[in-house]
Amino acid sequence: MSISLLSRKNIQALTPYQSARRLGGKGDIWLNANEYPISANFNLTDRTFNRYPEPQPENVINAYASYANVKPENILVSRGGDESIELLIRAFCEANDQLLYCPPTYGMYGVSAETCGITTKIVPLTADFQLDLAEIEKNLDKVKIIFVCSPNNPTGTLIERSDLLTLLQMTAGRAIVVVDEAYIEFCPQATMVNELANYPHLAIIRTLSKAFALAGLRCGFTLANPELISILQKVIAPYPLPIPVADIASQALQKAGLSQMRMQVADTLNNRQWLIEQLLQIPIVEKIFESEANYVLVKFQNGEKVFNQLWQQGIILRNQHNALGLQHCIRITIGTADENCRLITAIQQISQD
Ligand SMILES: *Cc1c(COP(=O)(O)O)cnc(C)c1O
Repeated sequence: MSISLLSRKNIQALTPYQSARRLGGKGDIWLNANEYPISANFNLTDRTFNRYPEPQPENVINAYASYANVKPENILVSRGGDESIELLIRAFCEANDQLLYCPPTYGMYGVSAETCGITTKIVPLTADFQLDLAEIEKNLDKVKIIFVCSPNNPTGTLIERSDLLTLLQMTAGRAIVVVDEAYIEFCPQATMVNELANYPHLAIIRTLSKAFALAGLRCGFTLANPELISILQKVIAPYPLPIPVADIASQALQKAGLSQMRMQVADTLNNRQWLIEQLLQIPIVEKIFESEANYVLVKFQNGEKVFNQLWQQGIILRNQHNALGLQHCIRITIGTADENCRLITAIQQISQD
């Protein structure tokens, strides 16, 4: 008998998250994971490894609190924003509870729910990628957590603040609303952080993986009221953050690190502008969606062909053809000026074939 049959039924049935790295590819232009294209340099300042780390390293928590304009008791630090998603599900969902999310959006909400054996309710975004509040309201029965991503991955669009507030009012006392702000540094004015004071059932996910250029570090945050944070403290692993991770994270959150991050954001926004202007002139480009993040979603006349030909040439993008309502769409991470230039040349070439 295969031991696979001993694993839980939902794990046997599970299709794991198709991460950029898992999907592979061979090439030298990687625009498929919304990473910052250049690495910063850090040196370890803490070189003691014989002791367990602090469960919630104080210097990281304090530095992030000051950056995010909240109190230290509003923060949980974890192994990437992805761990936060799972902690929220594990802490709040019983076997019979449900999780609601609104595709096209980040795939991990569904995958984490399945891993935990929690049923999902899917309420698609509207045609302009906004919340369908009427439909969400009709489907709230049994729902314990709602995940909303803003700016939304992969569309790049912001969810209307007034809709998020309506959602929070609609769910008060019955469900947790998680707003995933993984890309918020590219449009900081849109954060929901200032609403934490009004909504005990609001949780916000943040990460150092995108604007901070530290995807390899695996460091993310949950922002919420102390009552919610202390619930998550109960389920998180005893020592989630390795000492080197805490060391580098706290450096990245000091004054110099923050101004470095803001330069990276400015640079990305300039390059995004350039890329969009170039794409607009290419005949096979059908539509470029408004983006508030470090990627753009682009619809091509034949997206599959464009994706595959670029893949062959070692330019690796993120195919969205199979995402709900995104036929022929490709998500393109903003690269360096040189990478963007080579990408445009390659797409122009395909356009002339
Ligand atoms: C990248 C990302 C995250 C978290 O990434 P980590 O690397 O685990 O911090 C969360 N949500 C969305 C929408 C993302 O794109």
